[in-house]
Formats: sequence, structure tokens, C-alpha cells
Amino acid sequence: METKILILEDYKKSGVISAADAEKIKIAADIIRNGGLAALPTETVYGLGGNALMKEASKKIYAAKGRPSDNPLIVHISDISELESIVKEIPEKAALLAEYFWPGPMTMIFKKADIVPYETTGGLDTVAVRFPSHPVAMMIIREAGVPVAAPSANISGRPSTTSGEHCIEDISGRVDAIVDGGSSDIGLESTIIDITGDTPQLLRPGAVTKEMLENVLGVSVTEDIALKGPLAEGERPKAPGMKYRHYAPKAPMILVTAHSKEDVCGISKKILELIKTKEAENKKTALLCSEECLNEIKNDLDRLAESIDIKITGSRDDVKGIAHGLFEYLREFDSDGIDYIVAEGYSEEELGQAVMNRLKKAAAWQLIYV
Ligand code: AMP
Ligand code: MG
Repeated sequence: METKILILEDYKKSGVISAADAEKIKIAADIIRNGGLAALPTETVYGLGGNALMKEASKKIYAAKGRPSDNPLIVHISDISELESIVKEIPEKAALLAEYFWPGPMTMIFKKADIVPYETTGGLDTVAVRFPSHPVAMMIIREAGVPVAAPSANISGRPSTTSGEHCIEDISGRVDAIVDGGSSDIGLESTIIDITGDTPQLLRPGAVTKEMLENVLGVSVTEDIALKGPLAEGERPKAPGMKYRHYAPKAPMILVTAHSKEDVCGISKKILELIKTKEAENKKTALLCSEECLNEIKNDLDRLAESIDIKITGSRDDVKGIAHGLFEYLREFDSDGIDYIVAEGYSEEELGQAVMNRLKKAAAWQLIYV
């Protein structure tokens, strides 16, 4: 299949959608309305969009991603009034969260209305809904005139795509169009919260943090088992997608973190020790760490080997910056021909919970606490 690459030149330069950009957005919206697929930028990661009300479109999404069909898609809307038509009921808690966090990086689970096909919800009676805040995503959904099912626009099993280039790398030739609107602001997938039961439950952490949700709801939010550790035989997370080995680079990765969030020194010592061991085994090692951690061990690393592939996530104080670049680094490790990755862990407070969730999954829960 030939994929139309629709680069929003003006939006990428100025953040303003020009008439020329709007023409390209219209092409993508027409494709989606008519049952085709178009990748689109959102503030979290890129989405692979199709008409959520057409079962054939959802089937195409699974095929394009190589995604197991029991892993449901998130349905995106561009106006709160669209919600009523795709869900059975809007619980009070959901209305409250929508008021605070929509449009934005938060997905909620609802009982689905009959018009949403089971192909879109992976066979479930519930549907995940999000109202994104990205102006391009909003315009595409509005112009399409239908709710848009859009999982992350990556090949299943790879890190989510956060730029037009990543989408081209993964899904060019598999979709009708890719809309390139520059780099995703947040860089991590949306927070998923289930408010269908008595107690609100966090299914996936994201930029709308557990603390933020609790502040608005005024009650505590529990966490799904998938967030607590590797799943045992037979254990099923509430978000089916959380059971898959996601975000994982090809090389095995180990995550070094600290009980005390200030212990950069302890983390760096352990990282250095691990790298020394791997170097002695002649393994090509990569390091994913903060400026602060690198400063602690830079001299030793220089003496040890020149070949270590070091990627700096930024400062430990800038969790947003770390989140923003994370998937790009994980992708680069795949192209660098690396045998082993050592990564630094961060505090799990607020946005740190989402960052650590993705890192733990990338490391297949291989964690060392110092
Ligand atoms: P992605 O679109 O790739 O970010 O993945 C969507 C995530 O939402 C996956 O982990 C899905 O399992 C989860 N999800 C979608 N629909 C539902 C639902 N109805 N109930 C629970 N989780 C869902
Ligand atoms: Mg995904």
C-alpha cells in the first residue's frame, strides 16, 4: 500500500495550523471517515486512527500494527457531546474528571453503547474514551465527523511512536496516510482510569497522575495488578494491553533504582559496577542515565571503555524532559546493535510513576534497588 506522507510544515514551525496544513488534515479526515487508516499526532504519542464505528476499520488497525485482537483500542472524540453517543452511561465521577482533565492525556473506561462494535473494544462490553488536546488531533477527529479509534502508531511490541519519523519507520506501507505534526509533547501514553466500579482504579499511569486524580475525586485511587510487578501465570490485568511485553528494546535491560529518591551516588556506583562486569565479558553495553548520574561516574567510564553507548535523559529534576525523550532512546538502542542496557531509575512520585512504569516494562521487571 502506498502511504501518503502529510507533513504539516507550518504547524511544525509555528504551532499554528495554516490553510495548507488544514488541506492535509482534511485528506486524513476523509480517509478515516471512509474506512481507511491515518496516523496522527496527539499530545501523548502518535495514534493510528480509524473510524471507531466501522468494524472493518478496527480490523485493519489490528492488522497494520500486528496487534492481538483481544487488545482493545482507545476511542478518541473531539467534543464532550460525542461521549453520550458511544457510552451507556456517564458516571458522576467520570463527568467530574472530564471537567478537569479533558481535553487532555487521560482515558476513561465506560460501558459501551451498541453502536461501538466489539471489534473496536477487543470483545469487551466496555469502551476506553479519550478527548485529546492536540489541535491537529482535534481537527482531524472533528473533520472526520466520527469517533476515531487510535492505538499507538507503532508496530506491536515496539516503543510507541512520538514523531512523524518514527511512524514512517514503523508503519509506512501499512496505512493510507501519516500526518506529521512534529514531536509529541508528553511522549508517554495517556493515563487510563476505570471508574465503572465503586472504587476508581488506575490501569495505566500517565501525565494525569494518581495524585491529580485523587485530588479531584476526593477519594483514593487503587492500582491494577499490572502496575505492581510482573504478572503471575493466570493473572489478568484490567487493561488487556498491559500484559504484553511492551516498550522493550531488543537487548536485555536492567534498571537500577534507589529506596531513597536522593541517592544518585548509590545508583551510579551500582551502575558502574554492572558496566564493569559486562565490559569484562566483552558485551557492548549501553547506559541510559541522567546528567547527575553521569557526572558521578564519568571519569571512571572514560577510563573503562570508549565504546559505551551513553544516552542522557536530562536532569533528574526534569521528569517531564525524561518522559518526553524516553521512547526515542529506547528505539535508538535497537538500531545501535547493543548487547545489554543499564538504565537509571527515578522517583516514582507524580509523573515519575508513568516513567518508571515504562522503564520497568522495558526492563521486563529486572530491577535492582540500592
Ligand atoms: P494504546 O492505544 O496502544 O495506548 O493501548 C490502549 C490501552 O488501553 C491498552 O493497554 C488497552 O488494553 C487499554 N484499553 C482499551 N480499551 C480498554 C477497555 N475497554 N478496558 C480496559 N482497558 C482498555
Ligand atoms: Mg500501544
